[in-house]
Amino acid sequence: MSKTYVVVAEVRDSKLRQVTLEALNSVALAQEDDDLLAVILMGHQLAAITEQLSQYVAGQIHVIDHIDLGTYNSETYFAAIKDVLDSLNPHVVFLGHTASGRDLAPMIAAYLNAGQLSDVIAIEKADAEVLYTRPLYAGKAFEQKKFIESPQVVTIRPNNIAAATANPSNPQAEVITTDYAPPASLRSIVKDVIRKTSGKVDLTEAKIVVSGGRGVKSSDGFKPLQELAEVLNGAVGASRGACDAGYCDYALQIGQTGKVVTPEIYIACGISGAIQHLAGMSQSRIIIAINKDPEAPIFKLADYGIVGDLFVVVPLLTEEFKKA
Ligand code: FAD
Repeated sequence: MSKTYVVVAEVRDSKLRQVTLEALNSVALAQEDDDLLAVILMGHQLAAITEQLSQYVAGQIHVIDHIDLGTYNSETYFAAIKDVLDSLNPHVVFLGHTASGRDLAPMIAAYLNAGQLSDVIAIEKADAEVLYTRPLYAGKAFEQKKFIESPQVVTIRPNNIAAATANPSNPQAEVITTDYAPPASLRSIVKDVIRKTSGKVDLTEAKIVVSGGRGVKSSDGFKPLQELAEVLNGAVGASRGACDAGYCDYALQIGQTGKVVTPEIYIACGISGAIQHLAGMSQSRIIIAINKDPEAPIFKLADYGIVGDLFVVVPLLTEEFKKA
């Protein structure tokens, strides 16, 4: 019997987040041919995003477009999604393992009485079973899990599963518009969103992250890192050492108590490589460490190491990449 796979799409700054495309590909990795893909798109002024999504979805797109959904709020989003979930009777619901995905997923799981797997980094099928891999102990170990019953809720870590590719020759997706009925009362409202970013590229979705530690020595010391990130179209991150020292905002902190990033290239500058920092970046595809101490623990993890002064090495790299 065919099953329904649901993806809860995520929109930020009027753009579809990359992790939604990764969630769409997650469905492709898990589903059978005759299963239904249904995307739930919530937000405000969603016409362009609906159009964009229809290039990826040969199934249904449920659009709930309302001014109250312009900013994520767990109560309004949950109120909006409930009835659509009821009508779809999903086998699996996929969300990004992002701030809002992490918030909404357990609400959906509780509502559906579903099992939940969080922070999934790989999906494979073996003998018709779908196996989900997720990191444990801050990336020092991995576990592979399968569900034994449905419904199921899965959050996927950004930047790990390949994104779906657009297929303009898809059979047209069926777009279903659903009205939003605001709840009679809300227990919380979003008053303001104060955004602290590390630049044009979102840190958790960046393909390249240039990160600074206590070795940058001051907030001015981050400037060469920002220039390198700019040239590489990457984002700037930091260790907690750098944040604690006041060199940068905590919004940049990567690690156990900060953000988890999995870019294609992670460049650690003046970071010693404490286990709590590694927890947030050890799954990066290629790790490059720049440190003047050849014994720095970060070199044990790094694919490439440069022993030297970051204030010499980073500007040299920037100049070379500018030429490329
Ligand atoms: P340091 O350890 O001081 O390292 C600085 C490095 O810079 C040194 O290796 C030095 O050789 C090098 N250096 C100095 N000058 C230069 C130069 N000019 N050129 C090149 N290299 C240079 N940390 C995190 O990062 N993220 C977390 O989420 C996090 N969570 C934590 C949670 C808990 C409960 C605890 C207890 C700690 C946590 N920490 C976290 C802190 C962590 O233990 C380390 O203290 C911190 O990561 C160290 O930051 P650092 O590498 O920048 O500084």
